Amino acid sequence: MLTNRSEVVVKKEMSLLERIYIPAILAGMRITLSHFFKRKATVNYPEVKRPFSPVYRGQHVLKRDEAGAERCTACGLCAVACPAEAITMVASERKKGEENLYREEKYASIYEINMLRCIFCGLCEDACPKEAIFLTDRIVPSTFKRGEFIYGKDKLVEKVDKRVDISKRQTQTVLEFKQNKKFAHNRLYTDKQLKEKH
Ligand code: SF4
Ligand code: SF4
Repeated sequence: MLTNRSEVVVKKEMSLLERIYIPAILAGMRITLSHFFKRKATVNYPEVKRPFSPVYRGQHVLKRDEAGAERCTACGLCAVACPAEAITMVASERKKGEENLYREEKYASIYEINMLRCIFCGLCEDACPKEAIFLTDRIVPSTFKRGEFIYGKDKLVEKVDKRVDISKRQTQTVLEFKQNKKFAHNRLYTDKQLKEKH
């Protein structure tokens, strides 16, 4: 005996009432009935959807700059910061004539996030010095194939003509931090745009 917490179990004879089960059934029905008059904890999803928090962290987006060039410079800081090791990428050098496609001289020719590993902590967003990656209010859709949870650039980079609004995730603290002149050249929004959004 390792502790003094053990108890001797005695096999008690059941009384007549216990043997006919009716009191136990009635007690169970009383609990079931009491739930009819309580507020439901569930909703009829997908017909009814609960409102999301404005700072909900869902599917990532890789942003483009105002001219449509990809902001990511494949520095790898997001991958290093990721506690789930969900991000991988291959860096390539921008060629002459590709300035309209990639903002920096180095870019990610392959960029992948494993959504099954991701815990949506947002550390990749915090680590990014180029304001290239953000988490959004979009849910990662479910699927039966594991391979479909590896999101490449086709799913991550925003479309030129269909930009993803990430301004909700820009909390006051984040905005104040970004006032630092050191990061000015990377800012996604101008001061005027930010004022309009908040
Ligand atoms: S949200 Fe967190 S876990 Fe997911 S990719 Fe970013 S750093 Fe990794
Ligand atoms: S998303 Fe940001 S942190 Fe990650 S590789 Fe691109 S520039 Fe670097």
